Amino acid sequence: MENIKLSYQTMTGETQAIKDISFTVEAGDFIAIVGPSGCGKSTLLSCVAGLTQPTSGQVIINGKKVDSINRYTGYMMQTDNLLPWRTIYSNVLLGLEIQKKLTEENIAYAEHLLQKYGLWSFRDSYPSALSGGMRQRVSLIRTLAVKPDLLLLDEAFSALDYQTRLNVSRDVYSILRSEKKTMLMVTHDIPEAVSLCDRVLVLSQRPAVIAADIRCDFGPGRDPVAVRNTQLYHTYFDRVWKEMAE
Ligand code: ADP
Ligand code: MG
Repeated sequence: MENIKLSYQTMTGETQAIKDISFTVEAGDFIAIVGPSGCGKSTLLSCVAGLTQPTSGQVIINGKKVDSINRYTGYMMQTDNLLPWRTIYSNVLLGLEIQKKLTEENIAYAEHLLQKYGLWSFRDSYPSALSGGMRQRVSLIRTLAVKPDLLLLDEAFSALDYQTRLNVSRDVYSILRSEKKTMLMVTHDIPEAVSLCDRVLVLSQRPAVIAADIRCDFGPGRDPVAVRNTQLYHTYFDRVWKEMAE
């Protein structure tokens, strides 16, 4: 992200959402973006996906400027967006279908993901038969089936109850790590940000700038639920909390 600035033009005037944001994400990094409601977090993700163009500045992925919807990214939101009239299997193939990439190889990969992540026996079920947590996992697999390098999660777990949220976030963590993906995640949940991510970017009030960039290093092989009992976790939590309070 290079000097991203973004203003929305509305009937009543101009809303400056992002003042000036720059940061670099390495392949394989998990980054959390936290900040007050309405400060421009979703806008930022939208720029990375190429759905919104910044007023000035640029997003560069793998050396190329993002100037339209880009195929490097997959997007996951609060609602799972599964189509209720399609089975789990045909929901998972939807992205490939839309992108006209229903090749034998891609179908095999989607089936492999369903098997590896415990959803194969539900392939002929409809979304209504699955729990919220399972539906979010199906949604993730559908996103992964088109092989994006970078996953954008916008409050992806916030509609789930606490227990499910813990389990799903742990699943998503291990799935994205084992598929060697890069993740940019917006959340308002500090525990989620600290326990899942290598770095937490704290945004200011709108118009957003980066108020703090906090590294959360727990060493190799972290378990996002178990780390919550460590001293280090509390140290990182306090740092993020203090920055947000300011
Ligand atoms: P966050 O995700 O951090 O809650 P958003 O990125 O959704 O914040 O929005 C940032 C600011 O931009 C808010 O003040 C919001 O009202 C405004 N905004 C977002 N989308 C639009 C839009 N399409 N048109 C006009 N204003 C918008
Ligand atoms: Mg938002």
